[in-house]
Amino acid sequence: MTDQSIDKEHTDGSQKTTSSSRVGACLCGQVSYEIKDDMGIFQYCHCSRCRKFTGSAHASNLFVKPSDFTWLTGSELVGRYNPPDTKYFATAFCQVCGSSLPWDSKGGKVIVIPAGTLTQDPQVKPQWNVFCDSKAPWYINPDELPQHQQLPPRK
Ligand SMILES: [Zn+2]
Ligand SMILES: [Zn+2]
Repeated sequence: MTDQSIDKEHTDGSQKTTSSSRVGACLCGQVSYEIKDDMGIFQYCHCSRCRKFTGSAHASNLFVKPSDFTWLTGSELVGRYNPPDTKYFATAFCQVCGSSLPWDSKGGKVIVIPAGTLTQDPQVKPQWNVFCDSKAPWYINPDELPQHQQLPPRK
C-alpha cells in the first residue's frame, strides 16, 4: 500500500474507515499509524514536560497496548527524545514537520498516543486531568472563554 492510497482511504471522514481501526498522522502526512480497537486511558496531562513538548496548556494522550499499535507509513522519519531524568516519559516527533507522534514509554509497557494526531474520532472522551498541581498559571477552563466558530470578527 502506498502512502497515497492510505491517505485517500483515511483522511476524508470517519465513515470510510471501519470502527475497528483508528488512524493518525503527523502534519505533513508522511508518518501515519493505526490503533486497533482497544483504547485505554484518555487523559489531559498538565505536567511541565507535557506542556513543553506540546507547546500547549496540556497534553491530550491516549494509552494503548504495544500490541494494538502499528506504524503505517514513515516510521523511519520518527525521531525520539529520551530525557535522562525520567522513568517513563519520552517523546516522539516527525523529523520533517515536528508534529508530536506516539511514543512507547521507557520500559515499553504502553504506547502514548497524542490524541490531536488522530485523524478519526476515537469515540472515547478524556476521563480526567492529571498533574493539575503543574497547570500553567495562565490556564483558563476553555468553557469560560468566548467561543468563535472560526476567527473572531474583525474590529
Ligand atoms: Zn510530518
Ligand atoms: Zn505530562
